Amino acid sequence: MSRHPLSSAPKGDAPGGAEEHRPTHTVEDYLMTMHVMERDYGEIVAARLAEMMGVAPATVAMTLKRMERDNWITGTGRKAIHLTETGRQAAHSVTRRHMLTEWLLLRILKVPLPYIHDEAHGIEHAISPSLEERMRLILDDPQVCPHGNPLPGYEHVVSGWAPLTELSRNERVTIRRIHEFAEENPDLLNFLIENKILPGVEVQVLDILPFNQTVTIQVDNAPITLGFAAARYIFAERRAP
Ligand SMILES: [Zn+2]
Ligand SMILES: [Zn+2]
Repeated sequence: MSRHPLSSAPKGDAPGGAEEHRPTHTVEDYLMTMHVMERDYGEIVAARLAEMMGVAPATVAMTLKRMERDNWITGTGRKAIHLTETGRQAAHSVTRRHMLTEWLLLRILKVPLPYIHDEAHGIEHAISPSLEERMRLILDDPQVCPHGNPLPGYEHVVSGWAPLTELSRNERVTIRRIHEFAEENPDLLNFLIENKILPGVEVQVLDILPFNQTVTIQVDNAPITLGFAAARYIFAERRAP
């Protein structure tokens, strides 16, 4: 029995043996968060995972044990968790599917930006490698998701963008990226959308006060003050003065 009607299409670089050894939805969500942590912070911390996944530390510990048994990760119980090669490939695969699904929802289905991240979680796990390839072509091979986060392999595209916490007074910048960890926070995301702090928007830094942990930017003639806790998740590209 053929499960995928498109299974004759090319499989791209999906993990080998994906058909018989595909992670569960939960494991895929862990793998995607782990990929983001490793990509941007250089390490995977179990305590941070509990916070990000919104579950109790004991639940995380149990899932990590299962993931180590199934060879997605190593190092459970020690300080640093690492993705195995299989784990990394699976993490890249689900991250790509998540980001392509976000574009599908936004561009084709016209789902408003605040909802696409959550809606994508309901769909991304069911996408076959051949369907992923079709999405990639129809969506013009995007390098970043609608929030500006890089698809695996395109990290260099975002490497020149600085977090708002690192800008200087009077700098003119274009907002380029809202980090995945802010995508997970609906209150923050809604605040950013209401105040038009979104990829593509040009802003000017009015003030940055490290002792106060605040940065104030001018958006559309309105001054908006952000704490560093949120500002470090928003990245911008510097413009010529
Ligand atoms: Zn998901
Ligand atoms: Zn996104």
